[in-house]
Amino acid sequence: MSTECIFCEIIRGERPAEFVYRGDTVVAFKDINPHAPVHILLVPKKHIRSINDIIEEDRSIVSDLIFRAQQIALDLGIARSGYKLVFNVERGGGQFVFHLHLHLVGGW
Ligand code: AMP
Ligand code: ZN
Repeated sequence: MSTECIFCEIIRGERPAEFVYRGDTVVAFKDINPHAPVHILLVPKKHIRSINDIIEEDRSIVSDLIFRAQQIALDLGIARSGYKLVFNVERGGGQFVFHLHLHLVGGW
């Protein structure tokens, strides 16, 4: 958990977000600046900085992100039409929020 992290603030309920899922290890909410008709961020409750920082004990968390994305895509009705799952990694990879998150974009 990090005090100066906007995603930790959302997880703690200190900053508003439109949640679509809240679980024990992972939450999901709508991206504030959507790049597609559906744009969801899947975020581990544990503050992990980026994909470059995951360690062996995070294996199940990363797996939870992907399986939860699969389920949310199904729930939102975009599984068949198709979607992208994207991790932006470091500034050169387009990462601006340094709390690990998986983008689920689709609904075209
Ligand atoms: P990235 O560029 O991979 O770090 O993605 C960060 C994403 O977080 C961007 O798509 C932003 O639009 C989104 N974002 C930033 N602040 C918020 C917020 N308060 N609530 C929801 N999404 C946010
Ligand atoms: Zn955080």
